[in-house]
Amino acid sequence: MRIELINTGSELLLGFTTNTHLNYIAQKLGERGLRLARQTTVGDDRDEMRAVVNEALHRADVLLVTGGLGPTSDDFTRDVVAELCGRPLQRDETVAAFIAERFRRRGLTMPASVEVQALVPQGATVLPNPNGTAPGLFLTHQNCRVFLLPGPPRELRPMFEEHVLPRLPVIPDKTCRILRTTGLPESLVEQRVAPALANLTGLELGYCARPGEVDVRLIGSPTIVADAEQRARTALAGFIYGTGDDRLEAVIVRELTARGHTLAVAESCTGGLLAHRITNISGSSRVFLAGYVTYSNAAKIQMLGVREATLQHHGAVSEPTCREMAEGARLRSGTDYALAITGIAGPTGGTAEKPVGLVFIGLASARTTEVVRHQLSFDRETFKHVATQLALDLLRRHLTSSTT
Ligand code: ATP
Ligand code: MG
Repeated sequence: MRIELINTGSELLLGFTTNTHLNYIAQKLGERGLRLARQTTVGDDRDEMRAVVNEALHRADVLLVTGGLGPTSDDFTRDVVAELCGRPLQRDETVAAFIAERFRRRGLTMPASVEVQALVPQGATVLPNPNGTAPGLFLTHQNCRVFLLPGPPRELRPMFEEHVLPRLPVIPDKTCRILRTTGLPESLVEQRVAPALANLTGLELGYCARPGEVDVRLIGSPTIVADAEQRARTALAGFIYGTGDDRLEAVIVRELTARGHTLAVAESCTGGLLAHRITNISGSSRVFLAGYVTYSNAAKIQMLGVREATLQHHGAVSEPTCREMAEGARLRSGTDYALAITGIAGPTGGTAEKPVGLVFIGLASARTTEVVRHQLSFDRETFKHVATQLALDLLRRHLTSSTT
């Protein structure tokens, strides 16, 4: 089955917006064993769009078109597709009432331009959009199933999952499994995994590295993928934190919730990013009690009880300070665990003894406090992300290795 994707929007070609729809859609298809045969990006130019859609309509079994369903003069996807498929646009009263109601609820007067969003190509199915005004559209043209989806990601994603995926076939003899690892660079992940999977024929093995983590991608028949996963899990014991869409912070919240344990964090160089990542997870309030952003020495003393002498003798970026930050956060918040991060994000502020990229990660529990030293080499923002990743992973390892 040939699936093609057309992403519309001049902002994509001007470099103002990253085409996240491509990643998202390709991944969701991949999970079902499907993949894109071709992807095209086209600006808000009627002739270009007409040419691109026309070609794809004749080639594809499924055509997905994103963006350009809005009310402004640069939105004409609906128009172009209706014209090429020979389906006159007709006003849909249900859609019109839905849009009018959205404006009424927000206390706004509906501009006349919005009316265009209630136009539906003859015979097309309306895909409801609970997160915006423009509905999606689905129609069949000759042998091609055509889906028109809105541009804003928060509108497109739920619609894709609820209304597009169920209308696509599942390829039963192909599955895709993603194993998410942290703690090893890509080259070492491959060094462990590749030999273990070497003699599995029909397996498509891939890697995807991001700062602080590496995905291992297994594609093939369900039997081969299951076998490959088992072997990869043995080869990567301790480094796999999840699968599919799992995020490390979500795994931490899940593990803490399952144990009924609580967490506080004390952050210096990450400036609250660790607390931010944890609180992005729904349900984190059951386990996350407090975050201390102690950027200055004074704040470390006042908010965490770090001793002045420790800071004087060892400095803010040191094993003893990190230890006292973790222990102070745990005691003051009354949690089971506390994580602490102190380091030098750079690009300035490093010395020969304490270079840019040096970071200490601490974990205090009722029984012990563990502090690990890392030397990273990233730009400032990536450094902050990787430091939080190391902190979350320290706790993950502790939780999964202890039985309590
Ligand atoms: P609207 O009713 O908001 O105008 P639309 O269906 O006409 O929706 P666009 O105007 O193309 O969609 O885009 C709306 C928003 O969605 C913009 O902020 C745009 O940057 C974003 N967007 C569009 N396409 C993509 C994409 N491929 N990846 C990420 N963001 C996108
Ligand atoms: Mg628009």
